[in-house]
Amino acid sequence: MNEKIKKIVIVGGGTAGWMTAARLSKAFTKELCEIHLIESPDIPTVGVGEATIPHVRHFNTALEIDDDEFVKHTQGTFKLGIEFVGWGKPGERYMHAFGDLGRDMLNLHFHHFWQKMHAQGKAEPFGAYSYNTAAAYQNRFMRSIEAGNSPLSNITYAYQFDANLYADFLRDYALKRGVTRTEATVAQVNLNANDGFISGVSLNSGEQITGDFFVDCSGFKALLIDKALGVDFVDWSEYLPCDRAWAVACENKGELKPYTQSIAQPAGWQWRIPLQHRTGNGHVFSSKFMAEDEAREILLNNLDGKALAEPRLLKFKAGKREKFWHKNCVAIGLSSGFLEPLESTSIHLIQTAIDRLLAHFPDRNCDPTVTAHYNENTHREYDSVRDFLILHYHVNQRDDSDFWRYCRNMKIPDTLKARIDLFRASGQIYCSKDDLFSAVSWVEVLLGQNITPQSYHPLVDSMAESDIALRLERIKGVVDASVEHTSKHAEYIQRTCAAKN
Ligand SMILES: Cc1cc2nc3c(=O)[nH]c(=O)nc-3n(C[C@H](O)[C@H](O)[C@H](O)COP(=O)(O)OP(=O)(O)OC[C@H]3O[C@@H](n4cnc5c(N)ncnc54)[C@H](O)[C@@H]3O)c2cc1C
Repeated sequence: MNEKIKKIVIVGGGTAGWMTAARLSKAFTKELCEIHLIESPDIPTVGVGEATIPHVRHFNTALEIDDDEFVKHTQGTFKLGIEFVGWGKPGERYMHAFGDLGRDMLNLHFHHFWQKMHAQGKAEPFGAYSYNTAAAYQNRFMRSIEAGNSPLSNITYAYQFDANLYADFLRDYALKRGVTRTEATVAQVNLNANDGFISGVSLNSGEQITGDFFVDCSGFKALLIDKALGVDFVDWSEYLPCDRAWAVACENKGELKPYTQSIAQPAGWQWRIPLQHRTGNGHVFSSKFMAEDEAREILLNNLDGKALAEPRLLKFKAGKREKFWHKNCVAIGLSSGFLEPLESTSIHLIQTAIDRLLAHFPDRNCDPTVTAHYNENTHREYDSVRDFLILHYHVNQRDDSDFWRYCRNMKIPDTLKARIDLFRASGQIYCSKDDLFSAVSWVEVLLGQNITPQSYHPLVDSMAESDIALRLERIKGVVDASVEHTSKHAEYIQRTCAAKN
């Protein structure tokens, strides 16, 4: 038997560090494995990851966190999807809503039936058949209730929260479960001469911290995986050219929306994330196509309410590590790669990395077969999210800037090209088990950005048109009745999980 790992050292106390510490401290008792987290008082966290996707609820379930307590502590709100404004053409908008849309029939996706009827003016807009879209546009939200077959029995939602409060919440959770925390800056990473494994880190105080296994959560610095172990970065900026973001919070204005907004701008896009106490905003842009000052101006001119601080500039590059796990170190969070927050996927990638680490949990020798399997799976996940993000940029019909023309004409990965071509030719969409986003998500974006298939599936014609019309009408009726029954988002939060101040 190989020796068991007795001590894990996590370097970094941002969202990735504290999510990892919290989840590992739930999985291991202190006797089984000690967990030690080091965070620097001098190097700030990114502090902007505020929107999530529904899978994050599994993370909370694994930690046995109470939903209401969590939302209260993080000034959280609920999220039914993301509204994309101006991504197809200026002036257009669509919702990438979570959850079901319509109802599949004859083993075919709903959108085939919708397409036939819509082409004849006999169907409502696609989003009208989604409970989440309809509820979002009326600023309504509630969690699932017992309601038979109605959409109310299975409402798919995520959270929007204050990133700093989220890290604080998880820090408290992890410390209560025995995680050791050291506040110091790592000055040096020490490697074993014989196998190149990490033996420990030296802090700027002179203290040495040793361990059996290391998690690099040091953010873009990638102190362990890159600086110490020399694992290269795979650059994806040719596909995802945005490399900067200005971020600023502003006062809330108007009704509390249960969704994130992504608004296309001439050289990128702007996010709006409504929280209980403020709205998070950011302008993601490509410095090749726009100067920093101009991008800052655009953000400040497009806030819903008064800015609460000076905007902060963040720099990044799209891409991933060549290996996410190397020797006795796994990179989690921004040290492992960066995919811009267009579909709020980074926190999710942290979550799945932690789950995958637990599933592949090694002995001290970190068998290369195990690490290779971990890396393969993580690559597939990253590649699939990358394709979904590129899709939004590529299938645009904007002609108002060089940025959008570049995105429309740029070379895209073959995997994505194959998917778009298949959809255009036949309306078919395929998803593999590695895909984070479902067929419904792909179709919402494709149709939302005016990519219409040449034809619908031939089997649709085996159902009488009157029958299809009746079914569409019924689905919409159920959606509308369900939304009618749903509370206003702000009232719901007030009633169940309002933050204390
Ligand atoms: C503009 C932007 C918007 C984003 N929006 C979203 C979003 O809406 N949804 C989403 O899911 N994700 C989003 N993300 C990503 C999300 O913010 C990150 O995935 C998440 O915050 C994890 O960051 P991290 O913990 O890896 O790194 P960081 O937050 O940078 O934390 C790094 C930690 O490492 C420590 N550290 C660094 N060097 C040392 C050292 N030498 N010694 C000791 N400690 C050290 C720092 O002190 C810090 O504690 C966004 C990212 C950006 C850039």
